[in-house]
Amino acid sequence: MRSRELAKYRTRLVEERERIRKSIARHQEVLDHSKQVDGMAHSNHMADQGTDEARQEQAIGLMQSESRYLYRIDDALKRIEDGTYGQCELCSETINQERLEALPYTRMCIDCAEKEDAKRG
Ligand SMILES: [Zn+2]
Repeated sequence: MRSRELAKYRTRLVEERERIRKSIARHQEVLDHSKQVDGMAHSNHMADQGTDEARQEQAIGLMQSESRYLYRIDDALKRIEDGTYGQCELCSETINQERLEALPYTRMCIDCAEKEDAKRG
């Protein structure tokens, strides 16, 4: 891949990484805040408690999927440094540009990704 294209994907990945980090930090704040509220007397907040728990669960769920996403982004940035970015991990074919545009952190070409998906059912 040409270095100008690599630089473009690199910028996108770095920006995305920042966005996800901030988002994780926000969810963390929700969790910290809920803990503080829990620490206070919540006898008169019985009705709110269910919503609060749901919010915590949602925040945890989002943080988990965002952490996985963050890992993929870091991994892609490493591959840019290694010079293996844009190459399919399984068949070593070049991943097409359209796919990279849509999923800059992908490790597989569309054929391999579909095969993997089929395997997982
Ligand atoms: Zn492949």
